[in-house]
Amino acid sequence: MDEDCIFCQIVAGEIPGRTVYEDDDVLAFLDANPLAEGHTLVIPKEHHERLNDVPADKAESLYSTLHEIVPAVEDAVDAPATTVAFNNGEAAGQEVPHVHGHVVPRFEGDGGGPIHGIFGSRPGLSDEELDEIEAAIDERV
Ligand code: 5GP
Ligand code: ZN
Repeated sequence: MDEDCIFCQIVAGEIPGRTVYEDDDVLAFLDANPLAEGHTLVIPKEHHERLNDVPADKAESLYSTLHEIVPAVEDAVDAPATTVAFNNGEAAGQEVPHVHGHVVPRFEGDGGGPIHGIFGSRPGLSDEELDEIEAAIDERV
């Protein structure tokens, strides 16, 4: 546990959270400042700052919980869709440095956009650049 981490404090029960699901590895609770009714956060109980830091077994637990939570949230608030996203690192807008997946219910005409809407422009990559990027990622996985 990181004593200064607000989500670790929620896991420890030191500050209240509206918990919707809990098991040995994972906690899911309502976001305190929801983007839509039912906005839920899913976190590993262990303190890790980024997805990259989460051990494989805990990552499996995290995804398996998301798999259960997404339809439950949609059903609970009668939403036809959800945006499921991680702000993975400060440069991506992550404010709380404890891994958390956002499950945000979406409705027709809710004024939100797709994740493509985050970006103002696209890099316009050549085939050669795409070949290099493809190889660079492939050799690291
Ligand atoms: P981030 O920008 O780091 O991806 O999102 C952090 C999220 O955590 C925000 O949506 C914010 O509303 C939520 N949040 C911050 N502090 C608390 C808290 O103390 N309790 C709960 N339930 N949510 C919080
Ligand atoms: Zn933490």
